[in-house]
Amino acid sequence: MLKCECMFKKFRKRIGIDLGTSNSLVWLAGTGVVLNEPTVVAITVDDGRVVAVGNEAKEMLGRTPGNIMATRPMRDGVIADYRITETMLSFFIDRVVGRNRIFKPEVMICVPSGVTQVERRAVLDATLSAGANIAYLIEEPLAAAIGAKIPIAQASGHMIVDVGGGSTEAAVISLGGVVVHKSARVAGNKLDEAIANYIKKKYNLIIGERMAETIKMTIGDAMPDMKIVDRRPALPAGRPEIVEKEKTNPSSTIQDLRSHSMEVRGRDTVSGLPRMVELTSQEIAEAITPTLHQIIVAVKGVLEETPPELAADIIDKGIVMAGGTSLLRNFDKLMTQMTGVVCHVTEDPLLCVVRGTGVALENIELYKRSVGRK
Ligand code: ADP
Ligand code: MG
Repeated sequence: MLKCECMFKKFRKRIGIDLGTSNSLVWLAGTGVVLNEPTVVAITVDDGRVVAVGNEAKEMLGRTPGNIMATRPMRDGVIADYRITETMLSFFIDRVVGRNRIFKPEVMICVPSGVTQVERRAVLDATLSAGANIAYLIEEPLAAAIGAKIPIAQASGHMIVDVGGGSTEAAVISLGGVVVHKSARVAGNKLDEAIANYIKKKYNLIIGERMAETIKMTIGDAMPDMKIVDRRPALPAGRPEIVEKEKTNPSSTIQDLRSHSMEVRGRDTVSGLPRMVELTSQEIAEAITPTLHQIIVAVKGVLEETPPELAADIIDKGIVMAGGTSLLRNFDKLMTQMTGVVCHVTEDPLLCVVRGTGVALENIELYKRSVGRK
């Protein structure tokens, strides 16, 4: 019997899924990231039939005919529609494992730390109905920490801040568990909204959701006044560790390649006609600063509730930032300035959570105390 089970295990695929509010990613054990698509589902209005999922559905956002609706089933970091989420899960599982399943896969799903017990059970049930043999759950801060190569099992405090599209998760981790945690429903999407509102108010110009996001990624800057002094060539040969740190920080390596102004097209609110304006990083900073401060308030809230011993560890090690929004230019520097603790962005912040979910699944014996199962 045991021998038989071991044999099944060999054929059974193991997949980790990061159900993000903006992007969903799938990790196949032994391979790595195999799917990375927007968390969007297009359904028919009358009978709720799924028409498209992921990239194809995102293309339909804002362009759908009357009988089709493109929706985001994960809103503000929580599951807003279980039925659609289940459909999306089975779509992802089908894509990775194939429809013809003799061996059902083992699936680990990453969920935000703030979800209730009822919601956890619902996610596990949705995963099983979507075709999993065993469903595991891992909390997002733990997955992000594992993905960022933080040794979570140590009796030492580590702080991770994941700023995604719909929510920000800030947590202190010690001994393989989340000690303090705060989740704020403010992240990248709210920055896009702030940019669109600013442009409407200042220039009487209406821009779409996707345009606002492009502006943020192209000229968005949390501290545009900060002088970027590239000290790298001038560093004395005896301090190589600083050179290395600057090289591996994604936000500082790409900052010099990005521009500081861009032309933006939209529709004039008065004439209704298309118009173009030139926007600067300075203006975008003005638009997004209040939202960035809201994110940082959540981070400070976690620091304030952290037991002193763990707080001392965090001051020593600094805060690790993950999630797509941590790529906003100089956001790590603003976070450092406002919290008084050194913050740095992890390598591949967009892949960190799915990688951590996958690694936890591949080493389930090691992490079994940190995951739920059904
Ligand atoms: P989620 O986990 O909620 O799906 P992600 O971690 O995938 O979110 O991050 C998506 C968010 O990151 C989006 O709001 C996107 O606009 C933002 N983002 C991605 N790249 C950048 C960038 N270079 N600069 C600023 N924001 C970015
Ligand atoms: Mg995420």
